[in-house]
Amino acid sequence: MPIQVLPPAVAERIAAGEVIERPASVVKELIENSIDAGATEIHVHLEDGGKALIEITDNGSGMEPKDLRLCIERHATSKLQTLDDLEKIATLGFRGEALPSVAAVSDLTILSRAKNSNTTYELKVTPFSRDKSQCDPITFGHFLNSPHGTRMRAVGLFSQIPARLKFLKSQAAEVSQVREWVERLALTHSHIGFKLTSNERTLVNLRPAEESARVREILGDGADFPLVSISSGEDSPIHGALKLRLHWLQGLSLPQTRRLVQVVNGRALRDRMLQQALLSSFKQALMPGQFPALALFVEVDPALLDLNVHPTKTEIRFLNSREIFHEIQSLVSQMIGQAGAPAYVPSLNSVAEPERFQFEAQAFSFTPPAVSTSQHSPYTTHSTSEAAQNTALPSVPLHPLSGARFAGFLFNTYLLYDLGQELALVDQHAAHERIRFEKLKNRMFGANAQAPQTQALLIPESVTFPAEFKSHVLDRLPLLSSLGFEVELFSEDTVLFRGIPPEWGNTQLRTRLKNLIERLISVEGTSLGMDEALFEKLASEACHSAVRAGDHLEPLEAASIVEQLFKCEHPWNCPHGRPTLVKIPQARLEEWFIRRV
Ligand code: ADP
Ligand code: MG
Repeated sequence: MPIQVLPPAVAERIAAGEVIERPASVVKELIENSIDAGATEIHVHLEDGGKALIEITDNGSGMEPKDLRLCIERHATSKLQTLDDLEKIATLGFRGEALPSVAAVSDLTILSRAKNSNTTYELKVTPFSRDKSQCDPITFGHFLNSPHGTRMRAVGLFSQIPARLKFLKSQAAEVSQVREWVERLALTHSHIGFKLTSNERTLVNLRPAEESARVREILGDGADFPLVSISSGEDSPIHGALKLRLHWLQGLSLPQTRRLVQVVNGRALRDRMLQQALLSSFKQALMPGQFPALALFVEVDPALLDLNVHPTKTEIRFLNSREIFHEIQSLVSQMIGQAGAPAYVPSLNSVAEPERFQFEAQAFSFTPPAVSTSQHSPYTTHSTSEAAQNTALPSVPLHPLSGARFAGFLFNTYLLYDLGQELALVDQHAAHERIRFEKLKNRMFGANAQAPQTQALLIPESVTFPAEFKSHVLDRLPLLSSLGFEVELFSEDTVLFRGIPPEWGNTQLRTRLKNLIERLISVEGTSLGMDEALFEKLASEACHSAVRAGDHLEPLEAASIVEQLFKCEHPWNCPHGRPTLVKIPQARLEEWFIRRV
């Protein structure tokens, strides 16, 4: 075939394919345009999951008729003019590709009335009538109670492109993708009101709000999880060019990453580097396979970004990605360190005064609630009674259960604490495991690190392994002796343990030693020095608690467990990731007893 330049309709359709994949992509692009146009209210309406109709109305600046005619041309944009502008983009759009793409794959009608104009104009364009598109004055009342704004109606998405239509999912699935984008974009601009309706139903109705309130509403479905907010200080290594804010719905964990939100300069992204930076510090705080509900807001000098990496602009390139990674990572770990990661039982209904449960990470001095303390109960934790007697001594360190009244034991497994407006349950077994684990770790890596200690076993334990791993095991035995194990190769496929570190404990010793050898075999790499990461891998089996679920404890033992737990670096989980502390709000109990509806 001879070379020929593609007819415009074909070229347009090919280009549109990059930007418009499904109804959610149309919605994303059009909402971004509304945000760029300064809208304070945006309404998205779908019919048949967006296949029949996608309609977006905003009360933004609107367009003059000459702009209305131009806006559907490819590379027509009001958002940048020169090559220099590309280096400092402050709007969501800049490529001038969304509207021509939507017009190439649907019948598009745009109504728009510019600020200070008296007339609404209507532009109609279909994939095959681009050059004959009409732009006429019409009578049209108002745009969401505003005299100016824009309404875009895309009818029959992909109806001319059976190959694309075939790939769309069920109505419910397409609607849920649209909803996800509406909510994502609503998180980026909390001062804008967003509404999503689908056929007859209202799915999203968000009033303008503070950023943290919007995060709670979207990521927590309005439930009363405590929201922890933290922002980076002024001492950023990128000299004030970087500001970070994190909002975390503490205690909510999910088996997927859908509630991890990244916003960079007001733009919702799904960037892998940011995701890793957010998650790496949660390793100790959440069970494997569980993810937090967390919104990260990054504000960075636009000159340090390359947004133009991908046509949908959901990935990004940072000039200082290494520094930014570390900044985010350290802010997350600071937040977890200060606020902890207790599991939390949310209220069934959203609670009228959610602020009650909000505590800021930066000021984590849990004010002791006004309940009876040491005078009435011999069971308060040590630091409380000390604090109560000696208030002049500043900062006897407070921990989350300081001042809480010990309310007894449950099932010989949980320690109960009355926090005034919450009931806290501590898992005695998980807490004790955490304590032992950190003792062992401190002995290895702490400021006063000591030579490993060994406790001889009365009867040595033998552990077998697949014989082909013999050299592997042999190479790695020094790692075990650096932890305090006295262990030797006994035969082709057996090692013999003669001693173990004292923190290790005797419970189910055989199984745990077997697990240890398996972990040892799976250690990779040739430099086999013991570091903290390797320690965690090898030792999470280590500290099976001497205190088990079902063991009867005395109140003083309970108090000592809690004291020691909150001296730990990661008090919120046992080394396997199970929570040590769960809180139930009083409001939840009141719902059970129908004291509150
Ligand atoms: P881009 O957003 O990259 O500029 P688009 O194709 O999305 O490209 O939009 C083209 C132009 O149309 C925009 O630059 C803007 O001037 C105008 N426009 C699009 N949507 C709206 C809207 N909702 N309100 C006002 N102007 C709009
Ligand atoms: Mg745009």
